[in-house]
Formats: sequence, C-alpha cells, structure tokens
Amino acid sequence: MSKISWGLIGGGENSQIGFAHRAAAVLSGRFSFAAGALDADPARGRAFGHSLGLSLDRSYETWQALIAHEQHRADAVSLVTIATPNATHFTIAKGLLEAGFDVLCEKPLTMTAEDAETLRTIAEKTNRVCAVNYGYSGYPLIRQMRAMVAAGELGAVRVVMAQFAGGFMADAGDADNPRVRWRFDPKQAGVAAITFDCGVHALHLACYVTGQRITSVSSDFAHGVKGRALEDDNLSAFRMSGGTVGRLWASGLAIGRTHGLTLQICGEKGGLYWRQEQPNQLLWTPLNDSTRVLERGAPTLSAAARRASHLAIGHPEGLVLAFANIYRDLADVMQARSMGANPDPLAMTYPNVHDGCHSVKVVHAMATSAQNRGQWINV
Ligand code: NAD
Repeated sequence: MSKISWGLIGGGENSQIGFAHRAAAVLSGRFSFAAGALDADPARGRAFGHSLGLSLDRSYETWQALIAHEQHRADAVSLVTIATPNATHFTIAKGLLEAGFDVLCEKPLTMTAEDAETLRTIAEKTNRVCAVNYGYSGYPLIRQMRAMVAAGELGAVRVVMAQFAGGFMADAGDADNPRVRWRFDPKQAGVAAITFDCGVHALHLACYVTGQRITSVSSDFAHGVKGRALEDDNLSAFRMSGGTVGRLWASGLAIGRTHGLTLQICGEKGGLYWRQEQPNQLLWTPLNDSTRVLERGAPTLSAAARRASHLAIGHPEGLVLAFANIYRDLADVMQARSMGANPDPLAMTYPNVHDGCHSVKVVHAMATSAQNRGQWINV
C-alpha cells in the first residue's frame, strides 16, 4: 500500500513541537512529508521546508497558499497537521476541512466552544478526520490503562488524579521569550494559559483511560509570575459522567518536577500509576497486595498496548513513537474510508473532534469557576 501524502502547517525550525510531528509522521511508516507552510515568517518557512527535502514549489510561504495549490494537485497531501499557536487553529482547520483535507490539529482545537462545534459540524458534513493531538494517548501503557479499566480489572474507578505540573513557566525573566509570551496573551492563548497548554493533556488522559466525560468543575487559578494576564497554576476538582471523582493540578511553577505529567487511577479493586518521564513502566497495585511493574513490550499486555509497541521489552520508547501511534491510527482510518471498509477498532480511540470540543468546554468551565471563587460549574 502506498504512503499517504502529508503536510505540515507551523512547526518551523525553532518551534517546540515541529520536530516531533515530522519524526512521528515518518516513523509511523504510513506517511510521506510532501508539503508545508512551516513558519510565520514566509521566507524562513520556505527555506526550512526546502532544507527538509520539500520541493520549492511545495514549501509554501503561507498556509493559504498551501490550501490553494494543494487542493488542485493530483498528488495533493491528504492529511495536514496544524502546529501553529492556538489562536490560529480554528481558521486554518476550517480552511483545510472545507477544502477537503483531513486534519490533525494541535491542542487546543480552538479557543471557544462555538468554534470547536463549528469544526465538528464541518468535519461531520465533509466526512473528514479532524483529530486533536492529545499525543500522550498514543503511549502503549496509557492504552494498557484504558484496556484494564474497560475490562473491569480495577472495578469502578473512584478517583482519578491527573497532574501536568512542571517548572517550565517558572522563570519570571523568561517573559519576553516569544515561545512563552503568546501562551499568556489572552488574544493568542484564549481564556487560560497553563490549562490550555498542559492541563488539557492531563484531562484528556483522565477521560481516555476512564472512558468518561467531565461533567462539572471547581477551579482555583493562580498567577505566580507577576504581570501574567492568564494563570500559571490551576488546582481543580471535577466530577465525571461515570461517577468518578477527579483532581487536576496543572502548573508551570512546579520547579523540581521536570515534565510532571502523571496519571493515577484508583479503583475498587486496585490502582494504576503512570509517569510520562518513565513511560515504559506502569505501576499496578491490586487491592491489599504489593505493587508490581508492568513493562511496555511484555507479551501479557492488552492487545491495544501490544499494537502500540514497536520495540522489544526493555528498549525504551518515548514521545515521538506515541505521536507515531496517533498518525498510524489516522492512516488506518483514512485508508479504511477510501476502501469503504471498517477501520481496526483499536485505531478508533485516537483523540477526535468530540474530544477536542469537550476539552475546550471544560477549560472554559474552569476559567468561569476560577473567576467565581471556585463555584461548581457544569460543563
Ligand atoms: P512555538 O511558538 O514554539 O512554534 C510555533 C510555530 O508556528 C513557529 O514555527 C511559528 O513560526 C509557526 N507559525 C506561527 N504562525 C504561523 C502561521 N500563520 N503559518 C505558519 N506557521 C506559523 O509553539 P509550539 O510550542 O511548537 O506550539 C505550537 C502548537 O502546538 C500550540 O498549539 C501548542 O499548544 C501545541 N503543542 C502541543 C504539544 C503536545 O504535546 N501535543 C506540545 C507543545 C506544543
């Protein structure tokens, strides 16, 4: 089967996330990098794309040019990834979907719930993929957690503790760094900073693993670095559709926690604990028993975890291969659609437009709650 032609918007030379997408799309084994509009600076983006091997006529100066030219090419890209700052996601995604492209959009999908719903409607009408890059859900052991919860191995899930708290926004002297500045500018970041930047990942994992949605929230936002218009710390309580009680700590001030994404699931019959910094190990503690380590790559893991594993046990896999699993899911879905077939059900857990809409609504509910001294707000 031939590779799917892939394009990238944003993710330029000095961006944080561009490399991970370029590497993951290729590592999935299913996509070839064929077109891009990689930078806010047109000339720099064009030159960088060319240096990565794009032909000059497909290393576009703007995303509008990419859409205008690619949609008329016989060998047009099919999937386009959006890796630009948040405020641009809606317009670019809408343009791509309306022109018939499938989309993988960086999180958050949009800045408002209305815009997210608009994208959902367009994606449904055009029958296009509109995925959101909650890439951590591509980790094999996150998929193992989901499979164990779904199989009832934990019993009912009582509590989920989701944290994405690190020290990456703690330097007050970093305020003028362009990569930091837009994240705290409401015009570019939306109603929240650390919650849209990091909290949404932890919240998505909580939903993904439990199979539940968030129904109400109570939030306390803090502004640790003076002068920031948006929060750099969020401690929230939330309730979920299946009765699980949730806790979130999202922070950029947590010096000493390097990356700080962790997920803890406490059920009636046992508990699971996973850390993004050691993603190849999952701690599983059955009720009244000792903790044991589940290793990625072990043949006894669930089918979902085995499908997402690429290297033999003991050989570390990381973020890029987790992203590659999302790309592989999308390739399965797109190729099944083109053949009129049903995709592998294990491909269908990729973060979709509904997940993207849900996250945006949750973050808005959290911002409203924080403005009202932690009042419980329904999502
Ligand atoms: P960044 O500021 O480091 O890079 C943004 C890139 O987009 C730059 O190359 C910039 O030149 C380019 N760009 C800006 N406007 C553009 C336009 N109109 N056309 C083309 N290119 C444009 O930002 P980042 O940290 O890489 O974040 C980008 C997006 O990825 C954000 O939405 C962020 O929330 C998300 N992100 C996701 C993860 C994840 O784990 N999923 C991690 C980091 C960032």
